[in-house]
Amino acid sequence: MIGAGHAGLAVSRVLSEHSIDHVVLERGEVANSWRCERWDSLRLLTPNWQSRLPGYPYRGADPDGFMTMPEVVEHISGFAETVSAPVRTHTTVSAVRRINGGYHIATDDGELRCRCVMLASGAANIPHVPPLHEAVSGHIECFTAFEYHNPEQLPAGGVLVVGASATGVQLADEIHRSGRPVTLSVGEHVRLPRTYRGHDVLWWMESSGVWNQRYDELDDLERVRKLPSPQLIGTPEHATLDLNVLSTAGVEIVGRLGAIRDGCALFSGGLLNQFALADLKMQRLLDTFDDWAGNSELAVEVRPPERFAPTRVPTSPRLSLDLRRGEIRSIVWATGFRPDYRWLDVPVLNHKGELRHDGGVVVDAPGMYAIGLPVLRRRKSTFILGAEDDARELVGHLAHYLAQECPDAVNPAAPSWSQAADL
Ligand SMILES: Cc1cc2nc3c(=O)[nH]c(=O)nc-3n(C[C@H](O)[C@H](O)[C@H](O)COP(=O)(O)OP(=O)(O)OC[C@H]3O[C@@H](n4cnc5c(N)ncnc54)[C@H](O)[C@@H]3O)c2cc1C
Repeated sequence: MIGAGHAGLAVSRVLSEHSIDHVVLERGEVANSWRCERWDSLRLLTPNWQSRLPGYPYRGADPDGFMTMPEVVEHISGFAETVSAPVRTHTTVSAVRRINGGYHIATDDGELRCRCVMLASGAANIPHVPPLHEAVSGHIECFTAFEYHNPEQLPAGGVLVVGASATGVQLADEIHRSGRPVTLSVGEHVRLPRTYRGHDVLWWMESSGVWNQRYDELDDLERVRKLPSPQLIGTPEHATLDLNVLSTAGVEIVGRLGAIRDGCALFSGGLLNQFALADLKMQRLLDTFDDWAGNSELAVEVRPPERFAPTRVPTSPRLSLDLRRGEIRSIVWATGFRPDYRWLDVPVLNHKGELRHDGGVVVDAPGMYAIGLPVLRRRKSTFILGAEDDARELVGHLAHYLAQECPDAVNPAAPSWSQAADL
């Protein structure tokens, strides 16, 4: 197993249930991404009761609250301890190669051989920044979501936040509250209210079955896997954070950043269409919830259906912004994340560098699996509550593979991995 985030640890727990010998290699500490790669004020956007892992529900006093990063680290570390996950921390995997009968794993702390390998190294290892960032002149300070920790880091003056999904709206809100003028560049986005008919919107996503939709039942899987994260924030007030909230607060909304030419940022004029599309999709999702509520005994204590005002289109949104004038002093790129597979020496990536897999079963690499990627086996796959179902199905596949290909490996007396020197 490569990676001791919640997904790798969930798989570890299920492997132990199957008595399949394994080791979890982690380059940092357990829950490393939450310790090292998130901004200071971040809270989960999923409510605490949804942070359940196999056999490990949330047991705190605030099931409807949203965990801070130290609380997430504590929760995941507590899970690792409870299930006695065999984690080797501070062990970075530098290469994975195919060998006869399995895989050779090179790390900065020795080498291993194993029959199966589970890639649980995360879906958000590297912030994605569009190539046009190269045209930003040096006097503007740029930050990715990994480099940004709090507004005090930013120079005084205007800030351009590029991207309006969960990260972008949260950072635009925080930076605006720090007193800096914020311009938010908005492309395709997913609008959601924090609460709907008296329940958290993610309660609806789970209860109605939307989050449980399987990857092999979705019409356009590739598109669904690339959908941006929803415009949501977890706050003690359970506040909605959409573009109407931000523009009312004074954030300037502009279209998608299309180019930087001669020192000017050029924005798309398609805000009307972007907003109409996001409003329509939200409306359809709420219709789905209403249909489900009308037919389900689970939908108790729900209030009458609600509808939300359309996203307000600015009267004359700016189409360009001269970055040389000094109005903008920094840019925060909230343009998404991607996995890092530079250490994977097995030909399993497509021409875009994406892992070729069928629901987490890696294509053309028997015994290799992946977990934690967007819509891996269900819409909920990348979230904490999505790990258990995926882990159970993938470990079921893996156990079957071991039983077929190397029957000795399912016998606990015959480890399915070993130090390379032992073989
Ligand atoms: C900003 C942000 C906010 C999010 N908010 C929520 C939320 O509110 N609720 C929710 O449910 N989900 C949320 N997610 C999604 C999801 O839970 C995280 O992406 C989560 O970290 C994924 O878990 P994971 O175990 O797959 O990967 P990670 O937690 O990233 O774990 C992967 C582990 O692999 C290790 N690793 C990577 N490469 C190597 C290597 N070569 N050798 C050894 N170890 C390696 C890393 O150090 C890391 O510890 C959020 C994601 C992001 C980016």
